[in-house]
Amino acid sequence: MDLQPSHASPILTDPVSKSRLGIHSSLLAYSQQDSPLSPGKYTKSNSKKNMGSLDDVRSNGWLDAMKASSPPRKKSVLKGSSALVASIDFDMEDYNLWMLEYPSALGAFEKIIDHAKNKKIAMFLDYDGTLSPIVEDPDCAFMTEPMRTTVRRVAKCFPTAIISGRSRDKVFDLVKLTELYYAGSHGMDIIGPVSDTLHENHPDCVKSTDDQGNEITLFQPAKEFLPMIDEVFRTLIDITKDIEGAKVENHKFCVSVHYRNVEENNWTVIAQRVHDILKNYPRLRSTHGRKVLEIRPVIDWNKGKAVEFLLESLGLTDMNDVLPIYIGDDKTDEDAFKVLRESNRGCGILVSSVRKDSNALYSLRDTSEVMRFLQRLVNWKRKQERKHGKK
Ligand SMILES: [Mg+2]
Repeated sequence: MDLQPSHASPILTDPVSKSRLGIHSSLLAYSQQDSPLSPGKYTKSNSKKNMGSLDDVRSNGWLDAMKASSPPRKKSVLKGSSALVASIDFDMEDYNLWMLEYPSALGAFEKIIDHAKNKKIAMFLDYDGTLSPIVEDPDCAFMTEPMRTTVRRVAKCFPTAIISGRSRDKVFDLVKLTELYYAGSHGMDIIGPVSDTLHENHPDCVKSTDDQGNEITLFQPAKEFLPMIDEVFRTLIDITKDIEGAKVENHKFCVSVHYRNVEENNWTVIAQRVHDILKNYPRLRSTHGRKVLEIRPVIDWNKGKAVEFLLESLGLTDMNDVLPIYIGDDKTDEDAFKVLRESNRGCGILVSSVRKDSNALYSLRDTSEVMRFLQRLVNWKRKQERKHGKK
């Protein structure tokens, strides 16, 4: 990455009023299917006796994917258990080897900020597993106050967006910061920054008002799927109600089926039932997250496209002038890492305490390391501003 001549970069601190809008060509790329969407149009096959054979989920690799995307937690070391100690030593060694390929963003901090000099940083953050630890009950995935304070400081220094698989409303309820941009449902539900021009020209933009009566603009490329998602959500609730620990969440543009609290010998049952329902919804697909199956529209839109959209909307597309940083922990974040890696214009940071293949360039072990990295970035930025005579 080339460095630009030294100058102080303007900082965007007000997500809505100071933004400039552009529209990314990929917004128009997803193909419209022929069949109209309406609730109740689909044949429901939620009767358990109609379920397909278990071979379906095996042959489709669902079970393998469920296990692969849900690595077991590290066992605690028992006194006198030399086998366990040896196994943990091996894990550490393996992780350290993996870090040669994905160096710690803390260790490589100087190198990262070297690229950021004279550029505007645009910060993109996943929520679960990145800002908040993964917990048994997804409703209790709260971020700590120090993390909230840190993210607020980050947003004062750099344009900052949270891109989450959760619904936009839910992630806002958890984060509670008005200084940020929010992209919920894996980027399918973005609030601001959208100008009147885009609103007039693009059918996926809608004007609305928030709870306080303020005018807001939403970008929702999958809004035609809303009735279908709602129908599937209700069906999934019904077919999983007898599976202990299963939890179905409606994220507005996608649905999550959590099996974190389901006995492993019931994973096949849950996978088979979800698989059978999806046979009736060819315009929906499933992806595997951490102990969660996510059902979402077949649409050419993902977290990577959301990053491109936000960068363009903010007028931050000049790769010589902008350094996007994306921090995330999950498979769905790989689309964003890939966009940054392929365009050679930013820095993807994977949060993981275990070895994983990734399109990210760097790694951080857990949420506490994410917080330390963000704090260092804020401190560096403030130092830069002092150097350039800003308060
Ligand atoms: Mg995550």
